[in-house]
Amino acid sequence: MQARFEPIADAVVVGGGPAGLMAAIYLARFRRSVVLVDAGQSRIEKIPRSHNYPGFVEGIPGAQVRDMLRAQLRSYPVRIVETFVERAERTPQGFRLATQEGPIAGRRMLLATGVTDIPPAMPHVRAALEAGVLRYCPVCDAYEVVGKAVGVYANGPAGVAEAIYLRHFSADITLFMAQGGPGLAAEERSRLAEAGIRWNDAPVDAIRRNGERVELMHAGTRTLCDTLYCALGLTVHSQIGVALGASVDDTGYVQVDAHHATSVPGLYAAGDVSTGLNQIAVATGGAAIAASAIHRELGPDWLAPSST
Ligand SMILES: Cc1cc2nc3c(=O)[nH]c(=O)nc-3n(C[C@H](O)[C@H](O)[C@H](O)COP(=O)(O)OP(=O)(O)OC[C@H]3O[C@@H](n4cnc5c(N)ncnc54)[C@H](O)[C@@H]3O)c2cc1C
Repeated sequence: MQARFEPIADAVVVGGGPAGLMAAIYLARFRRSVVLVDAGQSRIEKIPRSHNYPGFVEGIPGAQVRDMLRAQLRSYPVRIVETFVERAERTPQGFRLATQEGPIAGRRMLLATGVTDIPPAMPHVRAALEAGVLRYCPVCDAYEVVGKAVGVYANGPAGVAEAIYLRHFSADITLFMAQGGPGLAAEERSRLAEAGIRWNDAPVDAIRRNGERVELMHAGTRTLCDTLYCALGLTVHSQIGVALGASVDDTGYVQVDAHHATSVPGLYAAGDVSTGLNQIAVATGGAAIAASAIHRELGPDWLAPSST
């Protein structure tokens, strides 16, 4: 139940990565009251240097993009709450969120909660990402591995698709299998062979960094790669949307329409948590579309006594 005098914002944005920050900036500039709730685990912080974010000729570290968007948001009267949203429920006015900082209510809600990559079992994952010996996203950085010895580490068919994708960038690709995976089907082996991709049937026993390279141990053999793409998959943070009844696809991505509306009235989703390419430009673009749709849906407020 909503408390009698509990304030209600026009919009609550859950997630403070590029999607959530961009949406909050748009909504604030539309003169909407906004609360942004963020648990502070944005994927963007793991990007050592992005070379496909618009406007930066030499590329830019992900943390710097996040800092600039945060600074831009702070110039508007947006309430920022640094906490985790545990649950959300529908109310007659919109949505009510349960957090450790108390309840937060909004007439509309945008989910920008992102995804988390499943890491490989190896020491010092963060440092390996920083050095570019470990990578998660060929769309982001395959250009940086052109002509290099590239490994792909996977536990299922996604690894075959990722290895074939990367073959466009290097002729030296090896697919490594994680422990407990299903193994390669005959059809997958022939696709790999056709593309000139090597594979190891013996599952990997250990992965570790070796200087500026990565070393994989499998059945007593050691293989060195310049870089290893981990294709173990990801966890989509769509639980809040699912609990509210939003439709998701087989991977768990929240399904949205062209305006980034979900199947739940008043609930929108943008960025990695929603269907589409997991990229900063897509996250900020989707956030702009969602924020504009939310503003339109909230309607004009010039009849309100305080409006000027
Ligand atoms: C190693 C690496 C390299 C990459 N390189 C590039 C690149 O070069 N170019 C590019 O375009 N993209 C790149 N990406 C992808 C890019 O980081 C993501 O597409 C982008 O960060 C998605 O933004 P987002 O706002 O949707 O999600 P995120 O940035 O992940 O932000 C989601 C936020 O929501 C918060 N959150 C989640 N659940 C809750 C909750 N219940 N309550 C409160 N807060 C919550 C999280 O803590 C987090 O702060 C890379 C990713 C990785 C991991």
